Order: sequence, then structure tokens, then C-alpha cells
Amino acid sequence: MLAGEFALIDTIRQRASGRAELQLGIGDDCSILQLPAGHELLTSTDLLLEGVHFRLDWTDLPSLGFKSVAVNVSDLAAMGGNPLALYLGVGLPADFSDAQLTGFLDGIFTGLTEYDLALAGGDTCRSRGGMMISVTVQGSVPKGQAILRSGASPGDDLWVSGTLGDSALALRTLGAGLPVSAFLAERHFRPSARLRLGTRLAEQQLATAMIDLSDGLSGDLRHLLKASETGARVEVARLPLSAEFNAALRADPGLLDLALCGGEDYELLFCAHPAKRAEIELLSQFLALPLRRIGGLTAETDLKFCLANGQAYQPQRAAFDHFRPGKDGSA
Ligand code: ADP
Ligand code: MG
Repeated sequence: MLAGEFALIDTIRQRASGRAELQLGIGDDCSILQLPAGHELLTSTDLLLEGVHFRLDWTDLPSLGFKSVAVNVSDLAAMGGNPLALYLGVGLPADFSDAQLTGFLDGIFTGLTEYDLALAGGDTCRSRGGMMISVTVQGSVPKGQAILRSGASPGDDLWVSGTLGDSALALRTLGAGLPVSAFLAERHFRPSARLRLGTRLAEQQLATAMIDLSDGLSGDLRHLLKASETGARVEVARLPLSAEFNAALRADPGLLDLALCGGEDYELLFCAHPAKRAEIELLSQFLALPLRRIGGLTAETDLKFCLANGQAYQPQRAAFDHFRPGKDGSA
């Protein structure tokens, strides 16, 4: 049984650490944030609902807390922003225990430390349904330097960080009632936000457009292409796949669509002028993060996936959409 709302907020407040830009944090009606001179404020929010985005019988609470921060920070990374503050809204079911809350908050604070964020406020309620988490992140970017979805042009290279499809493969394996390896579990339950990559790309002005991959390469790339009014050609053979994903793919070639359309990779997809290739390779080495050129942008406004033999490939899966008829959205 949990202590009351205000005791709970007090516990959170005691654990929260400030930072220079946060002039007033938890405890008043609003926080007060001082932006660095010449910077703009970036704000993004995410909802995570029990039964839709997570299952408490699959995830441990520290991982859930960490992931709640990471998925939100991923949006900040996708604009090239520097982290400032995070706001945490939670709806907790009546049977939520102290131990569960402590585990969840441990994960939240691990995420805050990892991404250099101050917890600046939030809201706390009892939920009559499942657990609900609402996270809002704020960051700053030098005026005019945010990397939008709309800045790409035909002729740009298309790049992606890390590997694709691991998270979707983990989810599919769990859904089949099979155990997942530690590597795949980590990719699904404890994804990393590519914050350092995002801020570096903005600082060095390397990317023309960027988006983070939350709903799958195919769907998210389409969002970027629509915003930039361009098309793209993706070389399927160039997709970065982990050793574990490749092993599963050899056993079942149909799994390829998980890398093309599966969600929750939280990698960054970005476009850059071909003249920037060497600088991007250097950045990859500096960050010890693989960056792979997977294709290029075209003037025709469609998206083509091409196999090594030049043939077109059409993925079978549609991108995830919470409101698509016939889907309950359940993960
Ligand atoms: P109000 O009634 O004005 O919304 P609350 O009593 O809900 O105020 O919150 C008091 C303070 O505690 C506020 O600064 C709010 O931002 C903070 N707070 C409430 N819940 C959380 C939470 N889950 N995490 C961080 N801060 C919180
Ligand atoms: Mg409140």
C-alpha cells in the first residue's frame, strides 16, 4: 500500500537534483527554467500505458522507469537538443506496492542521470485502470539549429545509427511464449536514446533532416519524406542488423520485415549531404556508435526498398498505428 500523494511527491523531491538552468523545481505550481542565451526551447511528451505500451508481467520496474525517460529523450535527440528538464506524470493502480514504486523511481533517476536531466515537476494520481506514465522532456538548442524532419533534399545520403529490428524481434519472441536473450531483452526493455549523436549532428551541422525510429524504419522514414517532400531508395542489404538478428533471420527469412517495419528501435535516422561522409564516419568512431549509410533521397516522392540484385522489395507489415481498425495496439 502506498503512502499518500504528498508523501510520495516528497520522496520524489528529495531524490531530485537540480541544475543551473532550473531556477525553481518541484514544489510550486510551475517550474521556472532559464534558457541559455541565444537558445530555443524544445518540448516533447510521451504517454506509456499499461496493456498498450508495456506489460508489468514482462518488464521489471527499473527498466520501465528507464525506458520512460529514454523514449522521451529520443525525441529530443532527434532534434539535436541539449537536455534540460523532465516532468513525470504517473497514474498508479490501487494495488501498486512501495517496492514497485521504488523500483520504478530507481529506473527514472538512472535515466535522469544518464541523460543529464533535472526532474522539474510532474503530477501524481491514483489510476482506476492500469498504470499510466506521462513524460515530458525539455531541452535547448542554439537558435535556428534544431534538425527538423523537413530539411532533406534529393541527393542527400540516408543514415541510421545502431542496429534495426532487435526490439521488435524481442517482442515477437516473448509473444510466442519463448525466452529472449539478454541482448534482445535490453534492446526492447531498456533502449538507449542516441542523445550524444543528436547533439553532435546539430553542433557540427552535419544533418539536413532527422527523426527517431519509434514506429519502425518504413513508417518513420515516410514521415520524414513527406515533411521534406522527397522520396528515398533504401538498400535492404545495407541495413545494420545485430548478430542475434542475423541468426534469427537465417532461420526465418520472413523476419526481415521486423527490421524494416518493427517499432521501438529508438535509433536516429538522418539525412546528410554526401560531402559530409568522412565527418560522419569520424563521429561514429568518436561516439563508438555504428552509423550506416542505407540509401539516398530521390526527387520522386516515393519510398523504394531494393534488394542486392536490384529487385524492389515490398514489406508485408504496415507501420504501427494505434487507431488502425482491428488493432488493439497491445504490445
Ligand atoms: P498542483 O496541485 O498545483 O498540480 P501538486 O500537488 O500536484 O500541485 O504538485 C506539487 C509539486 O510536486 C509540483 O511542483 C509538481 O510539479 C510536483 N510533482 C507532483 N507529482 C510529481 C511527480 N510524479 N514527479 C515529479 N514532481 C511531481
Ligand atoms: Mg498536480
